[in-house]
Amino acid sequence: MEIRMLPVLNDNYIFILIDELKQEAAVVDPALAEPVLKFLKSNKLKLTKIFNTHHHFDHVSGNKELSRAFPNVEVYGGINDAERIPGQTHYLKQGDLVAFAAETATVFFVPGHTVGHICYYFPLKNGEHHLFVGDTLFSGGCGKLFEGTMQQMFASLKFLRDFLPNETLIWCAHEYTVENYLILNKLEPDNLAITTKLNEAIEARKKNQFTVPFSLKSEKEISSFLRWDDPELKAKLNLSTDFEVFSYVRKYRDNPPKVTSPI
Ligand SMILES: [Zn+2]
Repeated sequence: MEIRMLPVLNDNYIFILIDELKQEAAVVDPALAEPVLKFLKSNKLKLTKIFNTHHHFDHVSGNKELSRAFPNVEVYGGINDAERIPGQTHYLKQGDLVAFAAETATVFFVPGHTVGHICYYFPLKNGEHHLFVGDTLFSGGCGKLFEGTMQQMFASLKFLRDFLPNETLIWCAHEYTVENYLILNKLEPDNLAITTKLNEAIEARKKNQFTVPFSLKSEKEISSFLRWDDPELKAKLNLSTDFEVFSYVRKYRDNPPKVTSPI
């Protein structure tokens, strides 16, 4: 299974999974149909599946047109998003399995950003691990709590952080890395790993490179959003529980200090 990405809108990514043997494709979170149709045509691929992570417009707006162009396409989404995902045909819950290109993904229910958010975890036969995480986890951030609670988001991230192998590559749906790390750099100005990560992301974006996917391992080591049990961060914030640390970081990000992006 090959994975390709299409940057669309301001900062969204659409992911296309390719079954080279069958010349078939699946698409993750099609914000738009047109760039996907163009890609499928130029690569002579037939779309068989749409994998949606949640109902927001910048993840599902391409569903209808893609379903018109490929009437047999299966449209997957969370069971709690029934009625909210256009053209949905398959309703998924925690632990369900979905197949594509002789590979099998496990579905994880990760509420927080929305109450129906799911993600798709593909441990591939070649040893690679890929997580299509939607708006739950970003490099240097996590999704805003539009519908779910702080407790739900903490539980979702804790599950992903502690359950998935370190080598997992995280495919998130937005290019937010520079902005996120500019703000974490204000939260933890003495943290050298954050400064280094920020500078790397700035250099990458200056060259128009994507900072997605990123590795779970480095994110666990660097991002303040996944270091709720780091004694240094706890001491710095003068907080005692993991949940308090996570809540503090999420709230800090909601009302961030002013930062100027050098890009
Ligand atoms: Zn969203």
